Amino acid sequence: MVKITCDNCGEERPERSAAGKEWILGYDIEMESPNAIQRSLRFLDRWDNRRVLEFGAIHLCCEQCKSEYKTAAPAA
Ligand SMILES: [Zn+2]
Repeated sequence: MVKITCDNCGEERPERSAAGKEWILGYDIEMESPNAIQRSLRFLDRWDNRRVLEFGAIHLCCEQCKSEYKTAAPAA
């Protein structure tokens, strides 16, 4: 069993997501180039259980955590 937690506030995602509470799935990927590290933040349109464990995947419990995460991310 896999436990998913919000990458911003640390809240645990319930097994069956409660009605009306849609989590946000995205990717936070760093790519190294000779001069700099480029960071790429992308968000999917909807939650996809098959992709939650992919490389660089991030999980956010709500829109507010999403915007806080983006704010905290350098050079996003
Ligand atoms: Zn959260």
